[in-house]
Amino acid sequence: MKKHINIPIFIPHKGCPNDCVFCNQRKISGTLCFDITKVKYEIEKALETVNKDDSTVQIAFFGGSFTGIPREEMLFLLGIAKEYIDKGLVSSVRLSTRPDYINEEILNILKSYKVKSIELGIQSLSDKVLLASGRGHDAACAVNACKLIKSYGFELIGQMMTALPCAAKEDEVFTAKALCKLGVDGARIYPTMVFAKTELEAMTERGEYIPPKLDELTDRTEAAFSVFCDNNIPVIRIGLQASDGLGDADGITYGSYESAMGEMVISRYYLNKIKALLKEKTEKLTVYCAVGEASKISGHKKENKQKLYQEFGIKQLKIIESKDITPYDIRIE
Ligand code: SF4
Repeated sequence: MKKHINIPIFIPHKGCPNDCVFCNQRKISGTLCFDITKVKYEIEKALETVNKDDSTVQIAFFGGSFTGIPREEMLFLLGIAKEYIDKGLVSSVRLSTRPDYINEEILNILKSYKVKSIELGIQSLSDKVLLASGRGHDAACAVNACKLIKSYGFELIGQMMTALPCAAKEDEVFTAKALCKLGVDGARIYPTMVFAKTELEAMTERGEYIPPKLDELTDRTEAAFSVFCDNNIPVIRIGLQASDGLGDADGITYGSYESAMGEMVISRYYLNKIKALLKEKTEKLTVYCAVGEASKISGHKKENKQKLYQEFGIKQLKIIESKDITPYDIRIE
């Protein structure tokens, strides 16, 4: 199977008149300024490292609300991307945007420029959470945007967040289930972090928002992750990428940032699965898992092993990778 490669072009906060309480987009993307004239250079540089024969390559306009930027800039960027598609150097375009920047006119434009994948920043499908997060649109708007995108035949990636203001675990599970029902082709889950100079930082300092501790954040994010897994929807990213500047004084100021969050969430998923299969205490346990998954079964810093030893009295735990098992599945003996 061919590898999927994104050539990411970050467009930080470009064109976005909103101020979601958690957002400091320039920090999240790790890019402080955007120069439209350098896009071609970035694409050329990335293409030098790509082997087209064993990869599917997409130009990915990430980091902001792409369909909300000034129209001539959007068309200029799409035009550049299309040149590379027409030359056979990349296969299609991917972009991220928000639900209220989706309508039929925009989708018609995107189709004509060979956009294939739309990543929609949904964050939550609970109106109270959207309101408390300053998103500026309601859940119905996001639902309509998802339906419209699917009706045009685009690949839809739903981005959601955990631990937003006013959100409980139930809201997050509800959002994940609703996204599955809407037919998303993939998901990203971002645990909320508090960035410097954001409204969320002020809310935290006023005591209006209390960032969950790492264990709770892992638990809540796993709950959403397991919904997607149970529905066979690939989760293509969990947590922010450790990019330059995230941890400096101007970056995350509160909240439990953990660069290994994705692995921790998957490990928690495996732990919950093992626990559900284990009916009683046992001294010996063998867990069979997919190739490459053994370390996630052990857990971050072997946390799962320790928990299983303590809770089930296990003295000998073997983890065996098997080609017959698919990722996220396990068998125990
Ligand atoms: S819509 Fe996106 S870019 Fe704009 S403020 Fe909200 S999170 Fe940031």
